[in-house]
Parts: sequence; structure tokens; C-alpha cells
Amino acid sequence: MEVFLAEYGLSTDEGVALMCLAEALLRVPDADTIDVLIEDKFAPSAWGEHLGHSSSSLVNASTWALMLTGRVLRDGESRGVAAIMRDAIRRLGEPVIRVAVEHAIREMGHQFVLGRTIEEALKRGEDHQEQGYTFSYDMLGEAALTARDAAKFFDAYARSIRKLAASCTSSDIRENPGISIKLSALHPRHEVGQKSRVLGELTERVLTLSKMAAEAGMGLNIDAEEADRLDLSLDIIEAVLSDEALAGWDGFGIVVQAYGKRAGPVLDWLHALAEHLDRRIMVRLVKGAYWDTEIKSAQVEGIADFPVFTRKVATDVSYICCAARLLAMTDRIYPQFATHNAHTVSAILEMADNRTAFEFQRLHGMGETLHDLVLADEGTRCRIYAPVGAHRDLLAYLVRRLLENGANSSFVNQIVDEDVPAEEVAEDPFDALDQLHADLP
Ligand SMILES: Cc1cc2nc3c(=O)[nH]c(=O)nc-3n(C[C@H](O)[C@H](O)[C@H](O)COP(=O)(O)OP(=O)(O)OC[C@H]3O[C@@H](n4cnc5c(N)ncnc54)[C@H](O)[C@@H]3O)c2cc1C
Repeated sequence: MEVFLAEYGLSTDEGVALMCLAEALLRVPDADTIDVLIEDKFAPSAWGEHLGHSSSSLVNASTWALMLTGRVLRDGESRGVAAIMRDAIRRLGEPVIRVAVEHAIREMGHQFVLGRTIEEALKRGEDHQEQGYTFSYDMLGEAALTARDAAKFFDAYARSIRKLAASCTSSDIRENPGISIKLSALHPRHEVGQKSRVLGELTERVLTLSKMAAEAGMGLNIDAEEADRLDLSLDIIEAVLSDEALAGWDGFGIVVQAYGKRAGPVLDWLHALAEHLDRRIMVRLVKGAYWDTEIKSAQVEGIADFPVFTRKVATDVSYICCAARLLAMTDRIYPQFATHNAHTVSAILEMADNRTAFEFQRLHGMGETLHDLVLADEGTRCRIYAPVGAHRDLLAYLVRRLLENGANSSFVNQIVDEDVPAEEVAEDPFDALDQLHADLP
């Protein structure tokens, strides 16, 4: 799948067509509109140009399928018998194509989602657990739009914590499974304009879930979302963590995004908070998955600057600097380094004195080869972030993964692209950033 997504990257029309299909197909309710959508995305693209590019026979077979589908669906190129034949194949073929394309998109979902239910996910994760991985489960779905949505997500989180409690058999919380939650899923108005209401209602919900997690001996992690939610999220985190009922529980986790220009000060603030409350917390460091959204909303708002870095190497440098900061905070913080980039992983291994004072994390379906090696050779822990949920809840998550895999600046894309030399993939981001500065007029 990684090689397939690299062949159909976002810099190709065909990659963009596939991305649009993946985003829209599973939520189109009727067959006629599905057929029109598939035709719109398949017919104009030059699938044949990808033939033979990849050394993977599976990718080439998929290219054949895409190309033939595109030819059957294309209108108006030929006349006479050929046109009549094509129309006949097209009419007979549409239901088949519809089912096949739907199946292919579901297969893409399967790559990134561990199971439709927590039971299925626990079962599917057994092999990885035997290998030495632990898991953080995430219930798919985000940004509740109504109070009813938020109640549904709350119930799903609570049910999962109860279910996972049985698997929390170690007295060391770092060895047990954890759960990741999104604040936007727990309240339909998680926004600064509704601060006082959100502070009351959302704090209450997160506190209830945190108490359940503490009782089960597992970690509960608050995912990081869009930058304009950061301030409010930190207020909620402070309010929840300050509750006396959570004293002695080391499983409260927060995600910090290194692409955010506030990442360093946020880490200092979290360390000071843990010190002030005499607590130990977990901090997952990520680069950040909402880059396109951040750029778009800053432009729409017409604000003078972006809340995130605008060069990939600046984010890489920020990540390594934040990692160094976290490695010096292990008296209060258990760092969780979530990355699929081998250079970033190597930098952390180089900087860390104590291999048990932190863990690595990867997403289900990504970075397997890298983390299998590191897990086997380096004596470090690794946790897999495993989304759980039905296909209809998959879209926003799937789009973020396709953006990540399809972007040609992305490590996971470059590592399978035989045209990118190893020296470039493993380039030192500090050197690259210096070079950018040197090139400034
Ligand atoms: C366990 C786990 C949990 C996660 N939880 C969250 C979460 O809660 N919130 C969240 O936002 N993300 C989350 N992510 C997703 C994470 O942000 C991406 O997987 C990560 O950014 C990919 O980084 P990398 O080091 O693997 O890859 P790399 O290829 O080295 O980096 C890709 C990243 O670089 C950054 N980037 C790309 N282009 C630019 C540019 N032009 N300017 C500046 N920066 C750029 C983006 O952040 C992009 O995602 C999680 C990931 C993992 C593994």
C-alpha cells in the first residue's frame, strides 16, 4: 500500500482523483451518484502513464485495473462499432466497477484501521503484541456537530475503557494499552467563543473518562487538533489534571505538535504544571497532521502569519529540538515520540541516554519496517496508535493519512520512491535549514 500511494502521489492528477474518491465515495448514498462520481474521477486521468513505473507487480496490476476502468468510462473518443461496444461494456460494467471501487476504498481503510469494533481490534492486534508492541486505541470520528454526536462519542470512549481494563494486567502503566480521545468529539462547540460553557461541560466529561482510565491503570491521551483550539485545550487539561482524584495516576497524556510555533513554550508550560501539581504526565510529540487546514484557515482569516512552520525542514528541526527538551524533562514527563521518519528516530536514539525513559509510537499501517527494526535492536518500547471504527467514520482520518503518504516531501513517500537518493531522504534538516537561510536574498 505504501508503494501504491507513492506511485499515485498528490503531485499527480491520478493521485488527486483517488484522494477525492476516497474522501467522497463511502458517504454517497445512491448508486447513480456513485457512478457519476467514479466516472468523473476515472475517465479524464492518464492512468496508463503509470504502467511499469513501479517495481511492485501488485501496483502495476492495480494500474491496469485503473486504466481499463478509465477507458471503459471515457466518452466520445471513438465512433461506430467501437463506440457501441464500449457503451455496452460500460452499461454492463457500471455495477461491477461500482462494487470494485468501493471495495478498493474499503481496502485502503483496512490498511489504516485496526478493527470495526474494539473486540475486533484487540483480536487483530494480538500478533503485534506478541512482537512486543503496546497499543493506544482511538475511536474514529471527530468534531461532534451535535450534542447527540458528543454523547455517542463519550459512550464509545467509556465502553472502550471498560473493555480495555481487562487487558491492563501490568502494574507499570507504560506496559498497558491506552486510549486516545479528541476533545472536539466530546463537545459540539469546542471553540474559544464558547469558552465558559466548554470549560464547564467538557472538563466534566474528560474528568469522568480520566477517572475511569486511572481506575483501570491505563493511559488516556488527548489528541492535538487545529491550532486555534490549543489555548482552550490547555485550559481543560489544567482543570482536569488539577483534580485531586487523579493524584498518583501517571497516565494522563497530552499531544504536542512540533509544526506549531508554540511547541517549545507549551512543553515548558506542561512541565511547570506537572511540577506545580506534583504529578507525572505523558507527552506525545508529533509533527502535526493538520498542516493544509492550518494554512487554509490562516489565509481565509487573513491573519498576518501562520501558526505553523511553512518549511518541512523547519518542522523536522523543531521536532528534534522539542525531543531534546523532553529528554531533559523525564523527572515529570514520559516522552512518547510518534514519528515514521528514520532520521528523526535516529536523532532521538543518539540523544537519549536512557532507553527506558521514553517510548516510540507509530500509526497502524505505517512505519512498520522501521519500527520492527528499532523494537528488535534498540531495547526501546513502541506503541501503535490504532484507530477503531466503522468505514463511514473513517473519512477525515483516511484523508489525513492519504495526505501524509501522498505528499512527496513526506518521509514515508520518499523512502519507497526509487528516484529519490538515500542521501536526500536522510538529509540533515539542520544543514538544510542553514542552506535555506544562506540562500535568502
Ligand atoms: C502515534 C501517533 C499519534 C498521532 N497523533 C496525532 C495527533 O494527536 N495530532 C496530530 O496533529 N497528529 C498526530 N499524528 C500524526 C502526525 O502528526 C504525523 O504522522 C506526522 O506529522 C508525520 O511525521 P513523520 O515524522 O512521521 O514524517 P515526516 O515525513 O518526517 O514529516 C511529515 C510532517 O512534516 C510536516 N510538514 C510537511 N510539510 C510541511 C511544510 N511545508 N511546512 C512545515 N511542516 C511541514 C507535517 O507535520 C507533516 O505531517 C500522530 C502520529 C502518530 C505516529
